[in-house]
Amino acid sequence: MPDTSLSETLALAFDLISRQSVTPVDAGCQELMISRLEPLGFKVERLRFGEVDNIWLRRGDSAPVMAFAGHTDVVPTGPEANWDSPPFTPEIRDGMLLGRGAADMKGSLAAMVTACERFVERCPDHQGSIAFLITSDEEGPAKNGTVKVIEHLEARGEKIDWCLVGEPSSTDKVGDIIKNGRRGSLHADICIRGHQGHVAYPHLAENPVHLAAPALAELSQEHWDHGNDFFPATSFQITDIRTGSKVNAENMIPGAVDVHINFRYSTEVTADELIQRTEALLDRHGLDYSTQWRISGEPFLTAEGALVSAAQSAIKTVTGYETELSTSGGTSDGRFIAPTGAQVVELGPVNATIHKVNECVRAADLDILSRIYEQILENLLYEPA
Ligand SMILES: [Zn+2]
Repeated sequence: MPDTSLSETLALAFDLISRQSVTPVDAGCQELMISRLEPLGFKVERLRFGEVDNIWLRRGDSAPVMAFAGHTDVVPTGPEANWDSPPFTPEIRDGMLLGRGAADMKGSLAAMVTACERFVERCPDHQGSIAFLITSDEEGPAKNGTVKVIEHLEARGEKIDWCLVGEPSSTDKVGDIIKNGRRGSLHADICIRGHQGHVAYPHLAENPVHLAAPALAELSQEHWDHGNDFFPATSFQITDIRTGSKVNAENMIPGAVDVHINFRYSTEVTADELIQRTEALLDRHGLDYSTQWRISGEPFLTAEGALVSAAQSAIKTVTGYETELSTSGGTSDGRFIAPTGAQVVELGPVNATIHKVNECVRAADLDILSRIYEQILENLLYEPA
C-alpha cells in the first residue's frame, strides 16, 4: 500500500529503492523515471551498451543545456541479516529514510524528477533545455555507462553546458558542500630488474630491492606541486612492493621487484608530466625497469561561472546557509563529462552512510534537495519578464 503521507519526492524514492538494481542491473528504475518525465515533454533515448542500460532525456532544442546526471545502480547489500530492515524495503524510522541507495543516489534521482515536475509546470517555456543523463554502471566498471553516452552525444555534436551530478556531496547537512572538481588518479606498475643469485654470493648477483630503494625513497620525498586554491598538493603513494618472495627461497636474491604507485593529482600538473618526471628519476638512478601506466580519471575543476553561482545561491535561498566548494573524495562520473567543456558540480545528500549497512538519509533532506534543484533550474533557465 502506498503511504499517502509521503511527499512526492519520498514516494518516488521509495519506489526506486524497492527495485533491486544491484550494479549493473537497472531493474526498471529508468523506465520509472521516463514514465514521469516523458509526459512533461522530454524526448527519450534509450542507450543500451553491453549489459548496461542508460538513458538520455531532453526537453527543449536550444542551448544552453542543463543536464542532471546520475546512476540507478547501487552497490551490493552485504549480508542482509546485518541490516535493521530489508535493504530493498524502504522505510522511514526516526525521520531517516532507510534502504540501499537512499543516499547513493536514488534519493537524488527522486529529487531531480520532482524538481523538474514543479519547474516545468511553473515555467513551461523556460530557456534552453533540461536533460537527464542516467546510467546503471556507475558503481561497477563504468565502461558502458556515462562515458559511452558522452561519446554518443559528442559524435552528433550535442553539448552539455551545465551538469549537475546528484552524488552525495554533503557532510553534515544537505547542501553544506558541493564538489566542483575532483583530483586525478594515476597508477603505475613498475618492474625493476636486477640479477637473481645466492644471498651468500652477492657479488655474483644484483639485488633489485637495493637498486630500487634509493629511487623509491627519492620518489616518496618529491614535491610534485603546491596544489592551488581548489586542490591540495599532488600526493604520491607506494601501494605495493613485491619480489615473488612466496616462490623464492630465503637464500635467494630476487631477480626483480614490482612496485605499484598511485598519484592523486591536482590541476597544476598533467599525467604526462608526472610520468616523465617519475621515469627521469628512475633513469637518473640507472635502473633497468619497465612501467605500465593507467589513468583512472583526469582531474577537473569548475571554478567559477553560472553553474557554481546558481548552485550556491539556490542553497542559500532554500536553506539560508552558505555552501563550501570542495574537490576532496574519490572519483565520480563527472570525470567523463567535464572533458567535453561542460561545467560540472556534484550536489546531493549527506554521504555518511553510503555503501554501508543501514544506508540512510534524513527524509526531510530529500524534500530540501528537490527544492534546491528546482531553484537551480530557475536560476539558470528562467528569467522573469
Ligand atoms: Zn553514487
